[in-house]
Amino acid sequence: MTSSLALDDVSVTRGNSLVLDGATLHVGEGEVVALLGPSGSGKSTLLRVLLGLEVPSRGVVKLGGRTVSEAGRVRLPPEERDLAVVFQDLALWPHLTVAGNLAFVLRSKGRFRGEERDRIHQMLDQVGLADFEDRYPGELSGGEQQRVAIARALVTDPAAVLLDEPLANLDIALKQDLIALLIELFRERGSTVLHVTHDPREAAALTERVAILEEGRITYTGRLDELPDAGSTFTRAVRGAAGGRG
Ligand code: ADP
Ligand code: MG
Repeated sequence: MTSSLALDDVSVTRGNSLVLDGATLHVGEGEVVALLGPSGSGKSTLLRVLLGLEVPSRGVVKLGGRTVSEAGRVRLPPEERDLAVVFQDLALWPHLTVAGNLAFVLRSKGRFRGEERDRIHQMLDQVGLADFEDRYPGELSGGEQQRVAIARALVTDPAAVLLDEPLANLDIALKQDLIALLIELFRERGSTVLHVTHDPREAAALTERVAILEEGRITYTGRLDELPDAGSTFTRAVRGAAGGRG
């Protein structure tokens, strides 16, 4: 089967340093994979390469089997990539209402033409915000804003969703709520997801397959519960934190 998201031997250079160093990672259609790594290991850079915001110095990036970036060249620009992303800082547009935030991405991607209103209603209903359409982001709680960001990412029905630690700064109860919501949404849609996190428990809740990124290299891909009892401090910490399940 063709991978939905594929990086093959991808490097990204900044100055004299390699931020990504021959990273290879494939995510199949309908698969949810967690990308785990310590701070500064290159996780956000890897997502930026997939989004077309970063040019690889080596390697090939494919979306749905199509080459979208290769060494020195972005072939398909970010706005034409059928991807959605949720960042930690959400980046909701404060001057647009909740419905306006969703409408903006639908229009800019040209999706659900003529059915925008229905699509927005349906999406907000699914994240439990049916009555919040006319509010502005500043009039919502943190958890509600998070739900808007998730709804905005999924409203276009993208080929894949990239999550860049959107749950990192939340308290435990809110985090558990949102993990439950994400599990339900992804299962319902059969979404393809690459979920960046540095929290092994968050990865364990959402996925079975993980990739570990350390100093720009993918050092492990496979089941979280089959992580070998060896390797770096980070790998051992992941094993320790994820242990005890199943
Ligand atoms: P992570 O998301 O895993 O914390 P990043 O991909 O953000 O890691 O960063 C990887 C490395 O690239 C870090 O060493 C970081 O300092 C460096 N880096 C990130 N952004 C820039 C930038 N704009 N200019 C120079 N170096 C950067
Ligand atoms: Mg990051």
